[in-house]
Amino acid sequence: MQEIKVTLTQNKKQKPPVEGLGFGNYFTDHMFLMDYYDGRGWVDPRIVPYGPLSLDPSAMCLHYGQEVFEGMKAYRRPNGGAALFRPDKNMQRLNVSNDRLCIPLIDEDFCVEAIKKLVDIDKDWIPDGENTALYIRPFIIALDPHLGVHPAKHLLFIVIMSPVGSYYKEGINPVKIYVEQKYVRAVKGGMGFTKTAGNYSASLKAQDEAEKKGYTQVLWLDGVERRYIEEVGTMNVFFKINGEVITPSLEGSILGGITRMSCIEVLRSKGYRVTERRLSLEEVVNAADNGTLEEAFGTGTAAVISPIGELIVGDREITINEGKIGEVSHLLYDTIVGIQNGTVEDTFGWVQNV
Ligand SMILES: *Cc1c(COP(=O)(O)O)cnc(C)c1O
Repeated sequence: MQEIKVTLTQNKKQKPPVEGLGFGNYFTDHMFLMDYYDGRGWVDPRIVPYGPLSLDPSAMCLHYGQEVFEGMKAYRRPNGGAALFRPDKNMQRLNVSNDRLCIPLIDEDFCVEAIKKLVDIDKDWIPDGENTALYIRPFIIALDPHLGVHPAKHLLFIVIMSPVGSYYKEGINPVKIYVEQKYVRAVKGGMGFTKTAGNYSASLKAQDEAEKKGYTQVLWLDGVERRYIEEVGTMNVFFKINGEVITPSLEGSILGGITRMSCIEVLRSKGYRVTERRLSLEEVVNAADNGTLEEAFGTGTAAVISPIGELIVGDREITINEGKIGEVSHLLYDTIVGIQNGTVEDTFGWVQNV
């Protein structure tokens, strides 16, 4: 393995108070960098003081969005140490995104080690408090100073970290979701299954309009028939109908969440019937009408579980589980957060100590 050169900061920042963290507002003292040059591969891995980058204004990532990212967290453990949750899955997925975006693949094991080293150096930044964690953002950008549309030959892999509190101001309370029938996020054959900047710029307009109407997120439908449910905001989505827990199958336009995968495994281990399949909006509305729509929730690293209390379909408002947190949402939140924080036994072997 390559050696990671470490340059420590001479000016440690003051840490923000835990109560006012919010999400993604503060950054730790250090960051990880590694360059890729055509012909040389990924070279010069290094941890340096956090600070601005210097880029050529023609850097390709700024023009054509050749960029990929990941989102994961480090958790404070009862013994005062730190742990990561399934970091190998994040690096695997980063390579899935890399492949789609013509970005050279990274060495997954090496990058997990690099992240552990960075977390260890900045471990004082892992907040202590309920619903808090150190959010980790690995990303890769294309740097070639060049305005032609081609895969880049010089790229930079960066990892930055941010102490975070609860993702939503509302906490784990059920949210109001607007079913988006005009805009779409992704289509099969596109990049929906990757974490790349363009997917999120494509979603801003719908999100902005939904927020202005007083809703927290949008529910995305498929881009072709506008009929099948895909995701909720930047989370995967689950519905419980008549005892069956259903989540849309991954067919190219949906991001394969690690929380989604973990929820499926937890529920199956506890004897729930979980199905990955196409689920139409019509089926959900019919279930609401005949009283079999029992629960709905989003899943993702940031919020873990986000119960859906209300769905707005055109001029119809569907209340789910009387707007309260359901049994499955509760169970998943307690189990996964417990495993992450070390208060629930990790029978799956998901946690890696730093
Ligand atoms: C990151 C993300 C998710 C959730 O993935 P996790 O690995 O569970 O955090 C779901 N949908 C989209 C669009 C995402 O970007």
